[in-house]
Amino acid sequence: MYLFKNVSGLRDFLEPFRTKSRKIGFVPTMGALHEGHLSLIRQSLESTQCTVCSIFVNPTQFNQAEDLEKYPRNPAKDLQMLYEVGCHAVFMPPVGEVYPRGIDTSVAIDFGQLAEGLEGRFRPGHFQGVAQVVNRLLSIVEPQQLFMGQKDYQQYLIVRHMVRALELPVEVVMSPTVREANGLAMSSRNARLSAAQRNQAAIIYKSLQDACQWVKQGLSPEQVREKALQQLGIPGFRPDYFEVVDGLTMQPLDNFDGLGMAVACTAVWAGEVRLIDNTILQP
Ligand code: AMP
Repeated sequence: MYLFKNVSGLRDFLEPFRTKSRKIGFVPTMGALHEGHLSLIRQSLESTQCTVCSIFVNPTQFNQAEDLEKYPRNPAKDLQMLYEVGCHAVFMPPVGEVYPRGIDTSVAIDFGQLAEGLEGRFRPGHFQGVAQVVNRLLSIVEPQQLFMGQKDYQQYLIVRHMVRALELPVEVVMSPTVREANGLAMSSRNARLSAAQRNQAAIIYKSLQDACQWVKQGLSPEQVREKALQQLGIPGFRPDYFEVVDGLTMQPLDNFDGLGMAVACTAVWAGEVRLIDNTILQP
């Protein structure tokens, strides 16, 4: 496994793959890796000839300084995990390498309603930051396939929209959410939970599973939302939202009539830690 800290080193390494038309797969992460990240790496290893993982805690996507400061970091363990899974190259750049002085890396795309609700509403500017870093990293790695987790479903839609709008020659592949034994979606932020909070946080996945049942029983999106919010209101936990949205537009639904795909999305504070999760509903 090769480790690169600057753009030119990584580009030189990737050049032979390009000239021989070997497929490059890319998994961008913010580190503090877990099985969810590794599932993306494995998927890339299966379908491409060269897998690149980036580890970069992107400052432009954090809307709270404290969240950025407290974001878990464990580079030595991350490298060990990537080595063991068989990743080919790791890109761990300093901020100045991703955002060189004097160069405008911002992305001039209006994401409209895709970015208005849910995470967009509670984390202003977050998706512009995500688009900026993914676009910049794609311009460095130039992969044929980009692997992203369903866990951040709205982020996946934003990136897919950007790739289409900018006509970038990359396929965006969405991979299922990997969970702890109790159903809690794996997340780097879980490292900040106490053992008790981790156990209690199973309620988040339970609310999503129950939502699937309620939909099958004929409840409306609004009824599902209300019941789920009630369920999530346990001591020490505070939901930011639970929404039932159109899986293509991220707009809240009034009903399920003639709909292709609905998604239930939630964000919940467990003490000081904000957790998100979602599930695809089959009305
Ligand atoms: P992050 O390091 O949190 O920015 O995540 C990097 C990538 O891993 C994103 O595409 C996430 O959606 C994905 N990811 C994070 N957690 C999981 C999980 N539990 N299962 C699958 N993918 C995940």
